[in-house]
Amino acid sequence: MLEIKNLHANIEDQPILKGLDLTINAGEVHSIMGPNGSGKSTLAQVLAGHEAFEVTEGEVRFHGEDILEMEADERARAGLFLAFQYPVEIPGVSTMQFLKAALNAHRKERGQDEIGAVEFMQLVKTKAKLVELNQELLKRPVNEGFSGGEKKRHEIFQLALLEPSLAILDETDSGLDIDALRIVAEGVNQLRKEGRSFLVITHYQRLLNYIVPDVVHVLVNGRIVKTGGRELALELEKSGYAELGVDEEAEQ
Ligand code: ADP
Ligand code: MG
Ligand code: MG
Repeated sequence: MLEIKNLHANIEDQPILKGLDLTINAGEVHSIMGPNGSGKSTLAQVLAGHEAFEVTEGEVRFHGEDILEMEADERARAGLFLAFQYPVEIPGVSTMQFLKAALNAHRKERGQDEIGAVEFMQLVKTKAKLVELNQELLKRPVNEGFSGGEKKRHEIFQLALLEPSLAILDETDSGLDIDALRIVAEGVNQLRKEGRSFLVITHYQRLLNYIVPDVVHVLVNGRIVKTGGRELALELEKSGYAELGVDEEAEQ
C-alpha cells in the first residue's frame, strides 16, 4: 500500500529525513517511535504533502502511484489521512458542514454521488457512537472551543467518516487522559478490522498498549535504525533510546 524508498527531505535547506525506507501492506499497523526531533512529524507532513518540506531524493508510492507528484488534497482524496491535518479553527463553518464537504470530495473521487442529508445524518450518528463523540460538538465551528480530548475524538471521528486506506496518527496520545486514550484506540481498532492500514507515531509506548502494532520502527536522526515487533516498543520503554546509541537529552 505504501512504499517509501530512500526518502530525503529538507526544511529550510536543513536535511531532516536522510534516507528513510518503509513499506506498509494493507491492513497492517506500523508504529514509529523515536526521540524528540528525530523527524517523525516531518515524515508525517512530507507524506501528507505539506509544502514547507522539500523532498530532495527518494520515492513514495501509495497504491502504486507516485504521490510526491500529487497535491495534499489529491493525496487525501486518494485515501491518505493525516490526523491533525486540520487542527485550526475554521470560523463560520460548522463542523457538520465541513465534514459533509470533505466526505463529498472523497465520494466524488471514488465516482460516487453526493451523500443525501438523511444518509449523512445516519452515518454521523453511527460513527459518532464509535468514538463516543458528543454530537452537539458538530454544530460548532471546527475545533472551536473543543477540549484536547474532544479534538482527538473528532479526528478519529473524521477518520471513521472518510474511511481512508492509510491513516497517519502523529502523537495522538499527547494530552489525552486514560479514558480518552482508550476511546480513541477503540475507534482505531474498530477501523483496523476493516482492513485499513495505520502509521502510528508516538514518543512513548503507552498508546501501543491500546493499539497493538504489527511492526515497530525506531526513527533516529532521519532514518529507521531498527525494526521489530511489538516487543521492540516494550524494550525501548525499559531501556530508553540510549541502548540504540542515542542520547535522548541531547536530542531535545
Ligand atoms: P519529531 O516529530 O520526531 O519530534 P520533527 O519532525 O518535528 O521531529 O523535527 C525534526 C527536526 O526538524 C527538528 O530538529 C526540528 O527542529 C526541525 N523542524 C521541524 N519543523 C521545522 C520548521 N518548521 N522549521 C525549521 N525546523 C523545523
Ligand atoms: Mg517533536
Ligand atoms: Mg513530532
